[in-house]
Amino acid sequence: MTRLASLCYEEYPPLDGAYQDRSYGRRLSLREVLGFWRGIREAGLYVHWPFCGRRCAYCYCDSRVPEPGEEARYLQAVEAEHRRLSRGLRFTSYLLAGGTPTDAAPGRLEKLLRLAPGAEITVEATPASLDKEKIRVLRAHRVSRVDLGVDSLDPAVLHRAGRPGQDRDTVRTAFAGLAESRIRVDASLVCGLPGQEQESFLADVEWVLKLRPAALRLYAFDPRPQTRFKRREAWAGEALGLADGLAGAAGYGSPKEPWKLPRSVLGVGAGAKSHAFGAGWHQHPPLAGRPFRGLGPFYGMELSPEDEERRFVVRGLGVNGRVSRAAFRKMFGRDVMKPGPFSRDLLRMERAGGLSIQGEEIRLLGPSHALALLCERKILKQILRNNRIGLRPMRCHVYEHHS
Ligand code: SF4
Repeated sequence: MTRLASLCYEEYPPLDGAYQDRSYGRRLSLREVLGFWRGIREAGLYVHWPFCGRRCAYCYCDSRVPEPGEEARYLQAVEAEHRRLSRGLRFTSYLLAGGTPTDAAPGRLEKLLRLAPGAEITVEATPASLDKEKIRVLRAHRVSRVDLGVDSLDPAVLHRAGRPGQDRDTVRTAFAGLAESRIRVDASLVCGLPGQEQESFLADVEWVLKLRPAALRLYAFDPRPQTRFKRREAWAGEALGLADGLAGAAGYGSPKEPWKLPRSVLGVGAGAKSHAFGAGWHQHPPLAGRPFRGLGPFYGMELSPEDEERRFVVRGLGVNGRVSRAAFRKMFGRDVMKPGPFSRDLLRMERAGGLSIQGEEIRLLGPSHALALLCERKILKQILRNNRIGLRPMRCHVYEHHS
């Protein structure tokens, strides 16, 4: 099975992990940003393509319908930024996401896919965008995995969301074309969209599982300010529980390997977050619905070794619910419970019932927003000041096929 190496999602603002927000940090010069990358030789690449042919009413990604000429200008800016920041870097993994990169014309998609030669490539796509020509381009560039946003198969829900051109045939054809090209398919569905019925969501889950995606992600719809829908159907939590049973019966279970990210990730494009391990974070502002007029200034901050240690634990607990002390030792060359301010915070949280620290494993017991208590204070302060979304747990169930 393809190694899940391109999971750079948490580097991207719309998915809120404990360290996600839109604009924390201070304004940085290009010189400071280049300084973060000095001495780093290997990284993941994340490129954000913020355009879609149509905008779905439930979407909270940083995406918009482009004006004439906007995609060409954006691509030029991405290529220039990539040339400037990637000097001396070798990319081991590449996530091209958005928006819908496969909505771009084949020539543009080719240019985007050329940005990380030799890397393991994952591309986000919608079923309706994957015609034969696009799949040929993906295959020619050795894309190993497509994240297929199916979202829903209910015609009434899709109509209400303004997402035409998708039905079971489109999805089946996309799966077949990708399978023929030996490209792994991870599919996703959204649960609790306004107007969606619990039965129709569960029918979608069963139907998609029959297509045998390598992984299935079920997202609870999150009515953030960027969406046009304002509420989630009340049955969503119960339905996600029932979907666990459907996935289990179809031979799917929790991923055997916890999510891993490359230590450093270079994010290129509007809103894409970069992390130079042990040096700093930086990002450009997202488009936030406005037409593209240039990538704008860099924002970010320096990261100390202690920031990295806290981030490693907070992310591990937030995403996987657990952190292995052995993995921490491997990464940082010391035990996480070595006496110091951080181990004191961990013990405090254990006493409050939020964590269990037993043997080689630290497990999250309480709600994941309690992880804020473990964040490095300067980052936490910034998050709380700048991020109106706050520290939300990710409501996502992930299953992998256990073959
Ligand atoms: S949900 Fe996906 S396809 Fe729809 S607007 Fe958002 S990014 Fe584009």
